[in-house]
Amino acid sequence: MNILEKMRLDGKNGFVTGAARGIGKATATALAEAGADVAIVDLDIAEAEKTAKAIGEATGRDVFAVQADVTDPASVDQFIQAVLDRFGAIDFAHCNAGICINAPAAEMTYEQWKKVIDVNLNGVFLTAQAAGKVMLAQGHGSIINTASMSGHIVNVPQPQCAYNASKAGVIMLTKSMAVEWADRGVRVNSISPGYIGTELVLSNQTLIPLIDKWNAMAPMHRMGTVEELQSIVVYLAGDTAGFTTGADFSIDGAFTAF
Ligand code: NAD
Repeated sequence: MNILEKMRLDGKNGFVTGAARGIGKATATALAEAGADVAIVDLDIAEAEKTAKAIGEATGRDVFAVQADVTDPASVDQFIQAVLDRFGAIDFAHCNAGICINAPAAEMTYEQWKKVIDVNLNGVFLTAQAAGKVMLAQGHGSIINTASMSGHIVNVPQPQCAYNASKAGVIMLTKSMAVEWADRGVRVNSISPGYIGTELVLSNQTLIPLIDKWNAMAPMHRMGTVEELQSIVVYLAGDTAGFTTGADFSIDGAFTAF
């Protein structure tokens, strides 16, 4: 088998949260293209159904939608059970759902702070913990958490302290789980994208005018695309990444390199 054949995910299955659109939709597509069966997990079930149908038709894989709120432990347990009922095992989990609320630290309400931490950090904890329990029992599995370059640097000029803190938390949560589970067959890694042109950015009217400023600061003078995040997730989900755990992968066009 050559390296590209070894990287294929035939016979594997798992899920992506926040997969109805954006980065999660792109990674779910790539995982299915690589041969895996994939559950599309999202709060927005109507969009998740459309995404699942499109990926399933394009790839011929078993791709189905499940509604879940990653901030609700009961909802997370339900979707994990739904994935297990459908696939019988969980080989990979891409914990990717996230939100951003921009507000100056001095003015951010506690409700805004809690909302961001709840989805971005507590949601990843609940999802990775629930998937991790299944994987520990199986004796194998790969968890991929979406962090951000905001877990490494403070973005400017927009104020987003809760988002930055939540993503730094995801990176350390990832490393902590990786160390605890390293000798039990479960790998845990995170990806830290730079600015990516998804609705998280493009549906936020306060962020759109900032794109030119970000691009001026960026060594590549552009945002990334969702397609540029696909191969790292396929790699991490598969067996060629067997010695890769506890790592965070910056995919930001060198934005955080200086
Ligand atoms: P997006 O807004 O396009 O998609 C996010 C998806 O998550 C949506 O489908 C939404 O319905 C779902 N979601 C939100 N809250 C949820 C919840 N409580 N339970 C289940 N699903 C929920 O965003 P995106 O840009 O694709 O971002 C995906 C991840 O990548 C997020 O964690 C984000 O922080 C991270 N990220 C994004 C960028 C960027 O520039 N777009 C950069 C770095 C990291």
